[in-house]
Amino acid sequence: MTKKLRWGLIGASNIAREWMTASINGNPDCEVVSVYSRDAERGAAYAKELNLARSFIDLAAFLADPELDAVYISTTNEKHEQEAVAAAKAGKHILCEKPLALTAESARRILEAAKEAGVVLGTNHHLRNMESHRAIRDVIQSGQLGKITSARIGFTVDLPEKLARWRLNDPTTGAGVILDLTVHDMDLLRYYFGADPIAVTGMGITSGNAQHGIKDNVMTIWQFPDDLLVVCQDSFMVPFGGTAVEIHGTKGSISGDGILWQKPQGRVDVSDAQGSHEIRVRHLVPYDRTITDFVAAVRGTGVPSVTGEDGLRALELALAATVAIETGKTVRL
Ligand code: NDP
Repeated sequence: MTKKLRWGLIGASNIAREWMTASINGNPDCEVVSVYSRDAERGAAYAKELNLARSFIDLAAFLADPELDAVYISTTNEKHEQEAVAAAKAGKHILCEKPLALTAESARRILEAAKEAGVVLGTNHHLRNMESHRAIRDVIQSGQLGKITSARIGFTVDLPEKLARWRLNDPTTGAGVILDLTVHDMDLLRYYFGADPIAVTGMGITSGNAQHGIKDNVMTIWQFPDDLLVVCQDSFMVPFGGTAVEIHGTKGSISGDGILWQKPQGRVDVSDAQGSHEIRVRHLVPYDRTITDFVAAVRGTGVPSVTGEDGLRALELALAATVAIETGKTVRL
């Protein structure tokens, strides 16, 4: 019988508490055994709450645990590189949160360290693992919408207190909507269209409670090959609007309502010459698929749902949006 993958959490985070620990422990091939936190009290309380055997405040000691096979990194973004490189050097497989890092160079160093160590590296962009988005991609790829001419992503949310902590006030973490939401849009659009954008322009605003010029309301326009234009509306300033996806082709349109959350929910509709009809989706927790695919990659029978290269590409695109917004110019990619 194959030994279970033993996981350690790097970061006593909200997402590990609310989603990832359940998805890892819910996989019969996996078990979360430890957590690394910079704060002894927070780490110990977290380990107790999630029923983890061990908590550490020393990263080297955490990684030296011979029982550990894989780590899930969900600290704030500026820490990902140092932790991922250390994990790779310790021979641990790595599932790292998005954005992989704050700069493309930093993300590349993660990819190089993983490659050199021969460990699996996955990026936790979850949207392409949602059944709703998989259904949309299938419709796009089937050709039934004709030639796709335009699309819109409305990732319009607000931030509850527990998420707002660093996202609105700490520039050192890569705070703001671009590295939080636009980066997800980029992974999703690459997944939908099987292509990378060729140009971006945009505007961004610091409003609401954001500080230090952190952008909490951003609109970017992306040109994809074959005359396809996409607008991404990413905002932390929308408490009641809901999220939206629209893809328009010459023979039909597909839309997704409420499908950009972490919780699997919402509906997908197609409109064409025959009228409008809902595409029934059997919603599943996207992170479960992330873990299943990651385990297959470790076992040598598959690849991560979102690879390190995918994570790097989404980051590069989000950073290009930042340049476009800061310079007021269109960035050619
Ligand atoms: P949190 O703010 O919950 O946690 C980040 C770090 O903050 C933790 O590692 C912890 O440090 C510290 N921390 C946690 N709680 C407190 C507290 N009450 N007071 C002081 N410090 C605290 O981060 P998120 O879970 O929101 O995000 C973590 C990462 O996951 C980010 O990279 C983010 O982009 C990504 N993310 C991805 C999502 C996805 O769907 N793929 C969704 C949400 C987030 P320590 O570990 O040292 O204890």
